[in-house]
Amino acid sequence: MRLYPAIGMVAALLAASTACAQAAPPMMDMPAAALPPTLPWSGASERLIVVPDDPWITPAEQSDFVTTPRLAETRAWLERLDAASPLITLESFGRSGEGRELLLVRASKGGGSKPVVLVQAGIHAGEIDGKDAGLMLLRDIALRGKHTLLDHVDLVFVPIYNVDGHERMSRWNFPALRGPLEKGTVGNARNINLNRDYAKADAPETRALIALLRRLDPILYIDCHVSDGFDMQYDVTFTYAGWGRYAYHRATADWLMGRFGPSVMKTLERAGHTPTSYPSPIDTRVPEKGIRQAPEGPRYSTGYGDFIGVPTVLVENHMLKPYRQRVLGTYVLLEAALKLAGQDHDRIVAAKRSDRASRPATMLTSWKPASAPIGWVERFKGVAFETYRSPATGRLEQRWTGQPITLRMPIMGQEPLASVLLPKAWWVPQAQAEVIDRLRLHGIRFETLTSPRDMALDRVRLREAATQAPQDGRTPLKASFAHETVNVALPAGTVRVPFDQPLGLLAAALLEPEAPDSFLAWGFFPEILAAPSKAEDFVRAPIAEAVLANDVIEKAFAARLAGDPAFRSDPQARLAWLLARLPEPYPGYTSYPILRETQANR
Ligand SMILES: [Zn+2]
Repeated sequence: MRLYPAIGMVAALLAASTACAQAAPPMMDMPAAALPPTLPWSGASERLIVVPDDPWITPAEQSDFVTTPRLAETRAWLERLDAASPLITLESFGRSGEGRELLLVRASKGGGSKPVVLVQAGIHAGEIDGKDAGLMLLRDIALRGKHTLLDHVDLVFVPIYNVDGHERMSRWNFPALRGPLEKGTVGNARNINLNRDYAKADAPETRALIALLRRLDPILYIDCHVSDGFDMQYDVTFTYAGWGRYAYHRATADWLMGRFGPSVMKTLERAGHTPTSYPSPIDTRVPEKGIRQAPEGPRYSTGYGDFIGVPTVLVENHMLKPYRQRVLGTYVLLEAALKLAGQDHDRIVAAKRSDRASRPATMLTSWKPASAPIGWVERFKGVAFETYRSPATGRLEQRWTGQPITLRMPIMGQEPLASVLLPKAWWVPQAQAEVIDRLRLHGIRFETLTSPRDMALDRVRLREAATQAPQDGRTPLKASFAHETVNVALPAGTVRVPFDQPLGLLAAALLEPEAPDSFLAWGFFPEILAAPSKAEDFVRAPIAEAVLANDVIEKAFAARLAGDPAFRSDPQARLAWLLARLPEPYPGYTSYPILRETQANR
């Protein structure tokens, strides 16, 4: 067995930590030393880097892309650029959970309101390529002749979106990323993953960003990440909501797939990069199993962009490529995107308008892996690996060799499992303040009842509801559902959310209980699962006896008693079983509080 190079270093560190007289531990190089070999690379984009004594060298260039600047240094550099150029303005668009300002840079030639391209870096703070690429591009726009990129569009650039996570830098964060040396965290100060938070909007950063999206209504929104997964030859990859294929809004998805993808790929290739559509591995250990494509909800930047009708791009640079190569690739991608948005702004505006005017009759709410591939990648540029027996895991682990290989890989898609027929409107009780607050934040239109009203509406009852493991500050919920028509007296103050509005599909994704990113699925209504407080048994027993007057229930009860001795001898179980058969056992218990006004309801 060849000794994995990292092992010696860990051993040295352990020795150093137990014997204080030892020299400084070589563990300093540890996460980087565990990475597979680098693939050789050079490309035309290297010419974007300025000479070392350039007065406008960025902090990352200054360090030869070994390190990335902290917030204070980033801000100071941008303030200097702002002071030097009339094209650059620095603004704050909110505050993080720990009170840091959320910075944006606007690059604009002024002269009225041009369509905006919004670019954000560091939603996952350790994946920070976008920040250092953006600084270089802003410099070249402001001072080095690339101002024509702003002839038809403004650029709004968020250099560090998850700023609290960004400042928690460590070389042990994102250990699989080849640089920079120290990186921030995935989550924010409350460990909420901001790229799961768009729909539920719990984090102050998300709330600020959604307000910014509404204010700018960009024609293009780019979210910069770094991938995980297997080793491969590709360095810059990107995709859209549901890989475009499964987008809910077609016109913007078609523009992304038909115009953005081909144009940006070509520019990246010309600059020496190896781009492809972001491949999400089924199984990193067995690359031949292929890549997965699936629909996505509005919890994600791309899903949210899809639901609000804004063309949105997910950039996923490959983690094992050196930081320098990744930053340069991002620069090329952003420049190409700006140029294309400038050319295509009328087309994009038309696509957005078309999506926002569409009123689909149904919405897909669940899906499962399709039994057969939906396509093939004929010549995937992979990297070979060998295996070795790891004394740590006791099984064979992968050791990527750096040897380029070509793979044929299936694309595994999804097939629909369930859809909902979308209603005319949803009725939200006034007491659901958290929901009404989110509707307002997202810009979803609603009206408020000024006087009471009687209506027949669709009520959803939860069956087999089960809370899931806590995630991103919430306790998600899974359930099955039953629908029934009920006559209700809606009090004044009840909120009616019509489907017929530009954000109708987003409203549906949030308010339809079956939708995977609905408020219910995120666990917004824990009260409906709280066990109701019990009355005295001398009151419950006669009520349960009355339930037995129903023949069907009486028969089922008798069968249960006969077949289950433990049940027969448990008075509380018997009462619970019977009382659960009441038409409405306890007000609100297991009833989804938001009522649906269907096409049939009057
Ligand atoms: Zn990410």
